[in-house]
Amino acid sequence: MSEDENVFTNCDWCGKDIFYGNACVSINRNIEQMDITEEYPDGEVTVIQSDTLLELCAECGNKFDTEIVANILLAIKPK
Ligand SMILES: [Zn+2]
Repeated sequence: MSEDENVFTNCDWCGKDIFYGNACVSINRNIEQMDITEEYPDGEVTVIQSDTLLELCAECGNKFDTEIVANILLAIKPK
């Protein structure tokens, strides 16, 4: 873990420092609510709760295969 105050966090896969201002990939579990209002007739999302499951540097994040992960999540669906 770095003591550098410019470090936002560390990559959960490779451990590399992720600095403020750098792109990163976050995998989150969000509880969201969609509402339609006069101001937002196409819908407005309110994030009620957000838990970060994984934070990856751009290099690792670009290797992240969302299709494989989606298939894994579908496979572990509770009965
Ligand atoms: Zn990484």
